[in-house]
Amino acid sequence: MEAEIQKILSNKQLKKTDTRERVLKAFLSSSHALSNQDLETNFDYVDRVTLYRTIKTFEEKGIIHQALDGTDVNKYALCSDRCSPSKHQDFHAHFTCSQCKSTICLEDVVIPQLQIPSGFNLLNTNIILNGLCDSCSS
Ligand SMILES: [Zn+2]
Ligand SMILES: [Zn+2]
Ligand SMILES: [Zn+2]
Repeated sequence: MEAEIQKILSNKQLKKTDTRERVLKAFLSSSHALSNQDLETNFDYVDRVTLYRTIKTFEEKGIIHQALDGTDVNKYALCSDRCSPSKHQDFHAHFTCSQCKSTICLEDVVIPQLQIPSGFNLLNTNIILNGLCDSCSS
């Protein structure tokens, strides 16, 4: 995982810091999206400002993207290699489990291109699916 963290950071021209390393480690070892609160549990002492800045930087650099779950809690998940600082390419649905409350990227469920009326400028399309995840439904 060390090597992977190093690779991601150097790809995005970011210096390795303790906070960045811990946050990336948390995302790499999680199968679902993480909230600020989830991330805070990876620190003995949390400097919330630094953590918040790290999340913003990662989002701007195309390392993580917001995984909407229909609540007002911000959750984030790792991007694919296709994402770049100028353009995110996370055109997939997000699934929120009503039992364990996990939010999971469904990379294979692609958001379709929608026809919108002229004059509208579409910036974002989100699909949030609700139900039971694979571990809760089995
Ligand atoms: Zn992305
Ligand atoms: Zn679940
Ligand atoms: Zn996602």
